[in-house]
Amino acid sequence: MPRYECRTAQKGFAAGKAFVIRPDRTGEYRQGNPAEESDRLETAAAEMNRRLEAGKEHADPAESAVIDAEILILNGEEFLGSARRGIREERLGAPEAVKQAAEKLCGMLTESGQDYIRQRCEDVRGLAAGLTALITGGLETPAEPCILAGSELSPGQITMIGPEMIRGILTETGSATSHVSVLAGNYGIPYLYGLENLPEKVHHQDYLILDPEGAGVWVNPPAEKIREAEARQAEIAEAREKQRKQAAGRVTRTKICANISRAEEADGLPEKGADGIGLFRSELLFLNGAKAPTEEEQFEAYRHAAEAMEGRETVIRTMDIGSDKHAVWLEMPKEINPALGLRGLRVSLEHRELFRTQLRALLRAAVYGNIRIMIPMIASEWELDEVLREMQTAALELEQRREQYRIPEIGVMIETPAAVIIAAALAEKARFFSIGTNDLTQYTLAVDREARGMDRYCDPMHEAVIRMIAMATEAAHAKHIPVAVCGELAGDPRGTERLIRLGVDELSVSPAKLAQVRERAAEIEDSMAREIRKERDEGIRSPAEGELIPMAEIPDPVFSGGVMGKCVGVIPANGKIYAPVSGTVATVAATRHAVSLRGNGEEILIHAGLDTVRLNGEGFSVYVSEGENVKQGQLIMEMDPELIRARGFNPMIIVVRISS
Ligand code: PEP
Ligand code: MG
Repeated sequence: MPRYECRTAQKGFAAGKAFVIRPDRTGEYRQGNPAEESDRLETAAAEMNRRLEAGKEHADPAESAVIDAEILILNGEEFLGSARRGIREERLGAPEAVKQAAEKLCGMLTESGQDYIRQRCEDVRGLAAGLTALITGGLETPAEPCILAGSELSPGQITMIGPEMIRGILTETGSATSHVSVLAGNYGIPYLYGLENLPEKVHHQDYLILDPEGAGVWVNPPAEKIREAEARQAEIAEAREKQRKQAAGRVTRTKICANISRAEEADGLPEKGADGIGLFRSELLFLNGAKAPTEEEQFEAYRHAAEAMEGRETVIRTMDIGSDKHAVWLEMPKEINPALGLRGLRVSLEHRELFRTQLRALLRAAVYGNIRIMIPMIASEWELDEVLREMQTAALELEQRREQYRIPEIGVMIETPAAVIIAAALAEKARFFSIGTNDLTQYTLAVDREARGMDRYCDPMHEAVIRMIAMATEAAHAKHIPVAVCGELAGDPRGTERLIRLGVDELSVSPAKLAQVRERAAEIEDSMAREIRKERDEGIRSPAEGELIPMAEIPDPVFSGGVMGKCVGVIPANGKIYAPVSGTVATVAATRHAVSLRGNGEEILIHAGLDTVRLNGEGFSVYVSEGENVKQGQLIMEMDPELIRARGFNPMIIVVRISS
């Protein structure tokens, strides 16, 4: 039972029969004369084109764009043209001609040395593998769910076969950041790569067990191990379903949303328990196509996602092109360090027409659902000002065209240290923050997130990153705007806990992780509530009926930061406020919004509403005076929560154990 070491691109356990995509699956190839070889090549190419076109039938615009790019490569002079010449001029067999054409094309592409070009190379090799399989005996689609294996795989092959038929993926080349990996991650498919000489080690119908935790693959293990693997696979499927059902029924205060890259991924998300889409990486629409997507194509994609979410928030990020994400049709400067170059919003600001086309599509789609627009890679306030101006221009253009539109809420991604430092200013103009911990980690710790062997340096739980998150959260809450986290940290169990305790309002994770993150969030919130109750049992009673809020979640940094002492919040069910302890009234604020009591061996402040000092007493009555003795549970104050809300203030009551 050989076991081979591999590398993990997407974690998870998978077992099943191998469906190998490789040229020589049907044995020895018998070469014919050049005319026969040309015939075989043309027949295979026609079939490949037909299958790719058919794959577009149920594809969303982003998927179609991926497939279009494959069609373009396939039929290009450098690929099919070169293979034809190989048969004609060098009398090669069709498979060899395809192989050489692919190698030549990849050689040309890799000379550029850029990551995105290398990814195109993966597409070329994937196409060559598919084409050769057709020439030598047909590229079937698996009859049952399988482990898809191949030296090279392309995203198009995954979409052609259909993710529901793929239990796991195993390849020789590839990387954790390749498009195949992104697609696998989105579909929750475990994926291992780096198995050298795969065609010699794995054959069609071999039984494979992928264990990405240990980054290894077992080939044809003994029957006993197969039984165990099948049982584990069934258990995992059952547990996932159970978790999904359980989680869907659990209500968490933290919103649990999904990250998607293609509009179709929004289908069924509400049933999977997503409170919304926290990040729609719109750039996939732009990356793989042969040309920029039109306003209409984008409008359809955004509208599709918004409608599928049935009124739930649908946060669409404007194109985050650049760094490792390049659009073939967009001329970009050669950069020594593209992560610090033209990327994210900078591309949008340098290509205004492209940006405005996207904004127009978003504004039009916003009529059909709860779309919010999110801007990536903000580092300066003026950038946001320019975005807001572009938005107005886009609206004006639609006005002139007499199109229906709505200007949605605009939020910013916090993924540069600069954005954290100026968070208070950004929070004045943005309606929400979403923290991109992947990039925030990269830029805070000065470590390239794409670089190999940097894992131990690229730690999103590094204290510096956590403090950045805390700072941004405080700045947002001080301005009463919500904070989401949409980087990978949100779906990491340790990250989930830390983030919830820091008081973030939303976690946005890949759809495959929704249930597990919701479960975890519910557990953490339960345990936080128990901690608060324990504090209460230590002699302090809630001053009002209502929901208790842990200190970290109080949307006011003075309280959540513990400046005055440990505290809890209460969202009051009504306006009656009772003494939380027995004792003496120490102070009554002239503006009647706060009273402090000395009792229980300490001073306790009851602060009704946030920032309500500014109401100058309006809406508050106090029934006790300084020096008076009160009993725990005695009515000491009253407020009018509705009036306070109507005046634009938050009526949350805060109980503080004033530290001396
Ligand atoms: C991030 O940087 O954390 C993020 C969510 O954006 P992306 O991974 O797409 O750069
Ligand atoms: Mg990012």
